[in-house]
Amino acid sequence: MYDIIIIGAGPAGMTAAIYARRANKSVLVLEAKSYGGQIINTPDIENYPVAAHISGFDFATRVYEQAQALGAEFKFEKAVDLKEGKVKTVVTQQGSYEARAVIIATGSENRKLGVEDEDKLVGRGVSYCATCDGAFFRKKKVAVVGGGNTALEDALYLADLAEKVYVIHRRDEFRGDESTAAQLRERENVEFVLNSRVTKLIADKKLTAVEVTDNSGAVTELPVNGLFVAVGRIPENQNFASVIKLDSAGYAEAAENCRTAAPGVFVAGDNRVKEVRQLVTATADGAVAATEAIKYLSAADQ
Ligand code: NAP
Repeated sequence: MYDIIIIGAGPAGMTAAIYARRANKSVLVLEAKSYGGQIINTPDIENYPVAAHISGFDFATRVYEQAQALGAEFKFEKAVDLKEGKVKTVVTQQGSYEARAVIIATGSENRKLGVEDEDKLVGRGVSYCATCDGAFFRKKKVAVVGGGNTALEDALYLADLAEKVYVIHRRDEFRGDESTAAQLRERENVEFVLNSRVTKLIADKKLTAVEVTDNSGAVTELPVNGLFVAVGRIPENQNFASVIKLDSAGYAEAAENCRTAAPGVFVAGDNRVKEVRQLVTATADGAVAATEAIKYLSAADQ
């Protein structure tokens, strides 16, 4: 049995591991994919104190190595269930593990558009990560869907590579920063397709075009080889919904101290109800959740 199991090896989970190990608690970190979480898709982090420029992958690797050097154990298994009690059981696709405290730091996954063949065309034109896949579309025509900061920044990144970038957004106002939208307006190869939704993906083996329907019902076809979907993210809490309370959008309800209503179960990072979801707030959550878990374990020992 471990003192603390941390579910998720993103910045929040790995920071929690560092804090827990420094307090000499035994720690297992479970991760469904690879360490790092969504930050590994960021080419250049500029807003984390001290590291003026560092890639998300380098950042994640350094935190991973730091947690490992302090003695945190990592297993790359997907946690599919959590059973509460004085001893908690985390069930993975491969087995199950016990701990006295659990920190859920699962972050979020890409929201899908929900159009037919979207899943089938991933890797054949449909992508959720411009910085990962943008280079495949050098001098080609692409579209970005969404109006948040991710979509706008993706469009700017792609405008340097692609021949043409359509930005398809369902409203005529962007949710993302005006300064980024202004930079896009300056680009000759960027075209806004506003008040519109992608209604169909057209492909032979690979994507060749998207059908777009505007809010008046008019349908057009845009010839694109790449479609970058950037319509937000969904918190990955569903597997733990029997133990933690979720809000209507699926975020885990926990106080600022990361404690949930379930004793010994904590939530850290982007999957928690919070105002600001940034790298620095994720790592801060990891520190807070681990500190609270350590306090919980000490109280249980008395
Ligand atoms: P977001 O801010 O939630 O934006 C999602 C966008 O997708 C919205 O414009 C939304 O439209 C649209 N959308 C949602 N569902 C859709 C659907 N089914 N079909 C079509 N469009 C849909 O998500 P995000 O851009 O991923 O950003 C997440 C958070 O990270 C934000 O707080 C953002 O500011 C932050 N972020 C910050 C930076 C930075 O600081 N440099 C960079 C990236 C992200 P509506 O606007 O109509 O709702």
